Parts: sequence; C-alpha cells; structure tokens
Amino acid sequence: DALKKAMHGSEFVGYESATTTGTIVGIIAQDRLCESITEADAVPPTIEHKPDQLVTVILDKTSFYGESGGQVGDTGWIEGPNGKFEVINTQREGGFFLHRGVLREGSVELGQEIHAHVDEGRRKAIRRAHTATHLVHAALQHFLGSHAVQQGSKVDADILRFDFSHAAPVGHELLRDIEAMANESTLVAAPVSANLLPLEEARHAGAMMLFGEKYPDVVRMVSIDGISRELCGGTHVDNTGEIGLVKIIHEESVSAGTRRVVAITGHRALERFRQAEATLIESANTLKVPVPDLPTRLNSLTKELKTLKRQAETNQADISIDELLNSAEEVAGVRIVVADAKGCNAAAMRQCIDQLRRKASPIAVLLGSTDNGKVTLVAGISREVESKGVSAGTWIREPASLVGGRGGGRPDLAQAGGKLAAKLPEALAHAKQEIRSSLED
Ligand SMILES: [Zn+2]
Repeated sequence: DALKKAMHGSEFVGYESATTTGTIVGIIAQDRLCESITEADAVPPTIEHKPDQLVTVILDKTSFYGESGGQVGDTGWIEGPNGKFEVINTQREGGFFLHRGVLREGSVELGQEIHAHVDEGRRKAIRRAHTATHLVHAALQHFLGSHAVQQGSKVDADILRFDFSHAAPVGHELLRDIEAMANESTLVAAPVSANLLPLEEARHAGAMMLFGEKYPDVVRMVSIDGISRELCGGTHVDNTGEIGLVKIIHEESVSAGTRRVVAITGHRALERFRQAEATLIESANTLKVPVPDLPTRLNSLTKELKTLKRQAETNQADISIDELLNSAEEVAGVRIVVADAKGCNAAAMRQCIDQLRRKASPIAVLLGSTDNGKVTLVAGISREVESKGVSAGTWIREPASLVGGRGGGRPDLAQAGGKLAAKLPEALAHAKQEIRSSLED
C-alpha cells in the first residue's frame, strides 16, 4: 500500500516488445517490503513453489503481461547487474505488475536498473491461443447467431477455453463448420492491429460490445482485418497466419445457457496431430493393414470374434450330441437321454437339449454336470412328450433333491442346482428310472 501511495503503477510496454529495461521499485518477500534479496534468502530451485515462497519484484516499466482478462501472466527473467531473478508468473494489482518468482543468482536490490526478458516462445504461444479466441468468437457468432457472445475465457500457451451464451449443445457438424471458419481466418493471413480510441468511436467502428458491460472512456480496440473488432487488452499475433492450425478438441456445458469450447493452436495442435498419427500407425501395424483400412479391419475382426465365441459355445455342446443319441433308449416311441454332460455349463446344456429336440423328437432329456463341487441339472422334453402328461419341472424335482438342491421350471424345460457332486450318478440313475415308468404308464 505504501508503494501504491508513492506511485501510480507500472508502465506496460509488453504490447510492443518482449524485453525492456526498467528500475526495481519494489521487492516483497514473505509479505514484507525489502531493500534487497540475496541468493541466501532464495528458495532452492528444485522444490515446488508455493505462492508464499515466491518473491515479488515490481518495476517502474515492464514487458511482462500480468494475468488478466482470462489470459495467463508471462514468465521469463529479470537480470540486474548482480543477479538473475526468474519470473514464474506475473499478476496485476491496482495498476502494478507483480513479477512473482525466485532469485536464481546473486542479488537484486531497490533502485537497480534491470533488463526484463519475457519467455518469448511461451508468449508467442499465448498470443496464438489468445488471437484464436477472437476467430472462434467470430465463427460462433456467424453460425449460432449474435446471442453467442463471450462469457469468459482462459488463455494459456497454445490452448484456450472459450465460454459463450448458447442454450443447447453445438453438435458435431456445426462445431466442424465453426472450426473450419476459424481456420479459413488463419489461412487468409489477416493483419491484426490494436489502437486506443474513444469508446464512442469504437462503437461506431462496429466493435463487439456486451450489453450492460461498463467500458472506460478510452478503449483498446483489436481489429482483425475483415474478420472481427473487439475491445481487448490481451496480447495478439500481428497476422492470423502466425496461429497455425486451430483445432477444437472439446465442447461442453458450463451452466444453464452457457457452453464452452476448448481449442488448441500452433505447436500443441501439431503435437496432437503427431500423437494421433502415431497411434494410428501403431494400430495399423499391429493389424497388418494400411491406415485407411483400419475401420473395415476392426469391424470384420469384431464380427469374426463374435462368431468364434458363439461357435465355441455351441461346439462344447455339439461334441456329445451324436454320442448322446447313440446311447439313447426308446420307451413307447420316445427317446430317453439321461447323461453326465461333463464340463458343460447350464447354457451349453440347454443348447444341447434344444439340438436334441430338433434332431430326435419325441425325446426326453435330462443332463447333469459338476463344477467345483456344485451340481447343475437341466431337463427338457419335446412337445409330444409334454402332451403325454409328462413335465420337465416335475421330472427334475427328485433328482434335484438327491444332489441336495432344488429346482423347477416350465413343463418343457427345467433347471436345478445342488451341492452334492458325488450324488450326480445316483440322481441320473433315478431320473432315468422315473421317466421310463412315466412313459410306460
Ligand atoms: Zn484479444
């Protein structure tokens, strides 16, 4: 606060230049104003920085952009005659730019003249992403209507988040159109300029303004030739061609009436494209097909797998069909099959019964199997047998109780479970005897 009283604020020259010379007018460490800081006070460079461990350096003039308007602050270096200070992030407060970071070498002190160097690679990536928000904004307005105005944004190196008014999901096709239009705007390599002018003039020039928003008397208008005019304090590319690719990667709801798109630009877009390509090539190599054939190959593989699975299940039941029929006895014109269907689960046994019924009706079948000490019994009879007054549900009851379980079902199909695996042969013998006598009656 003392500093605020003494000065009006820091001068920002970062629109024109990434480097500048300036004077240190304030140093704040652990919430106290200091005359200087030396390496001995500094935090070891390897540890993770918590906000309270960072030192704040304030300059009379700076090229570092302070976080505002959704755009992250700059990072870089402040170099004095006796030391180097790394800026990890830059904040803005009451007209001052707070360079927050760590002393890496020597010392810095009040009144020293320093060189301020913004990390230019990162700044360029931020400029690309920021300028892309203007392009996305213009495209959203074009395709969704004038109601789709900005509600907020977050801009970082080659990535942006843009919130706008719209009630429903944008939809895949519209999103593609919006992305295409934003990329047309980069391909035409439109010049970008910014100038300060009275609010009324900006309004007259057609700058996009939000209803109910308070603007200062003098505003900064950012014009992208033939594309858009917005009032904006952020850092921008000089020409939209610098942005490279604008790729929308996500669209979602933020709250009722507000949607969000996430997009990437420049190096990040290229990196994502490379990764996607590598994944495709790896998949294509695994399947031994050219990349364009991947979807067809995956489709046919999925179908093949499904068929094989079905066959495997059927085969399990198939093995014994003929054997079972060979061992069948016939009573009153009805074939009787009662057997241990070794290894078959209930589904396979049911399938087996279906096949036997199709192949050799009239027929009465009761199959049993054991698995981990548990017994499963399935009984099925064909319609002709059912019309003789026989019921699979009744038939299975006695054998089920012999294996220590119970069960039942429909007249034509019944199932039971039990716990006495050793009793299965006895239960099967009983079942055979029972069906014989009911058919002989
Ligand atoms: Zn802007």
